[in-house]
Amino acid sequence: MTTPPSPSPSPSPPMPPRLLMGPGPINAHPRVLQAMSMQLVGQFDPSMTAAMNETMALYRQVFRTDNEHTLLVDGTSRAGIEAALVSLLEPGDRVLVPVFGRFGHLLVEIAERCGAEVHTVEVPWGEVVPDEAVEDAVRRVRPRLVAAVQGDTSTTMCQPLAGIGEICRREGVLLYVDATASLGGNPFETDAWGIDVASAGLQKCLGGPSGSAPITIGPRAVEAIEGRKHVEAGLRTDDDRPRGTRIASNYLDLAQIMDYWGPRRLNHHTEATTMLYGARACAQVLLEEGLDQAIERHRLHGTAMLEGVRGLGLEVFGDVEHKMTNVVAVHIPDGVDGDAARTAMLEDFGIEIGTSFGPLHGKVWRIGTMGWNARRDAVLTTLAALEAVLRAAGVPVTAGGGTGAASEVYS
Ligand SMILES: *Cc1c(COP(=O)(O)O)cnc(C)c1O
Repeated sequence: MTTPPSPSPSPSPPMPPRLLMGPGPINAHPRVLQAMSMQLVGQFDPSMTAAMNETMALYRQVFRTDNEHTLLVDGTSRAGIEAALVSLLEPGDRVLVPVFGRFGHLLVEIAERCGAEVHTVEVPWGEVVPDEAVEDAVRRVRPRLVAAVQGDTSTTMCQPLAGIGEICRREGVLLYVDATASLGGNPFETDAWGIDVASAGLQKCLGGPSGSAPITIGPRAVEAIEGRKHVEAGLRTDDDRPRGTRIASNYLDLAQIMDYWGPRRLNHHTEATTMLYGARACAQVLLEEGLDQAIERHRLHGTAMLEGVRGLGLEVFGDVEHKMTNVVAVHIPDGVDGDAARTAMLEDFGIEIGTSFGPLHGKVWRIGTMGWNARRDAVLTTLAALEAVLRAAGVPVTAGGGTGAASEVYS
């Protein structure tokens, strides 16, 4: 009889060096990694509560908001999305979701699990939803909440939100936005655009690991969420449904999480200290550079990558006018096995680029330039490697076509 090999008791060797040029996660900024190696302190240690307050203040700047309740949900970006939806939505509430990619469908699924009546306004992948389509749907559906994605990495599109915010204000509808893919690399204005709740993650333009979800909650949303604390109040709405039903999650109950982060410091979960160090460092690195400068850096390197893949003779997917700055989807040339090429990028060059989902599966690669990897050397190295891989796959690429086109953007 053979026994299965037992796991090694000695420390694991380091992970292989990789350049992560997919749609996320990306290589974390060295200062973020350094911050995450700091020693722990107690949950209510004055230095910890000070760090929490500082993190709130930093993320108010990142989200461009005065919202007092700007904090971290412990978990990946989806924990932030679920916290927002499960805390805002009561069974039977109508929700409208503009769907232009995979993450719109995720909002639909989560809202359905909250017992909401979900309506969608959909466009083909590669487009964004026009304001008029949202306005018509809001008038028809009369939702309590519009839940939208800003940047959908599945299609690379960036949904304009200023108009939707205005419609929601005018019609008295709450607006939630998932800004995970876009925040820090594309303009995002919580207050100026009238967004009630927005959430994100660290592993895209913020240059950190996944595992913490910054979220901001505006006054109208706070009121709606706090109203659900009085479970037995039996408040009735005009359509005679009981309001104030209990939030169906303890971990993701924003009313409790706000009380934990707020001046009352009511114990809820144990804050994920190491993730908080990381999230705080992400915001510090970003704000030290300057939010506008960081967005401009993403625009520059994203444009260089876009022109670079075009210089290799590849065709870009979707409405480029509405593309996020930080990721580009490129059609896989005829006759090339997309997954084999990605494997060659990884094994021969240590570079990861992204595959695709749903209708785009096997048709496009997604190449990111985000966070710490929105850099000239990362762009040029990726383009040089891609040229070699394409040539090996039999594609007639112009020598130096990718790096040349990118260099022109830089000069
Ligand atoms: C990448 C991404 C996420 C990621 O969610 P995780 O839970 O962190 O995996 C969520 N929303 C959008 C729009 C994204 O692009």
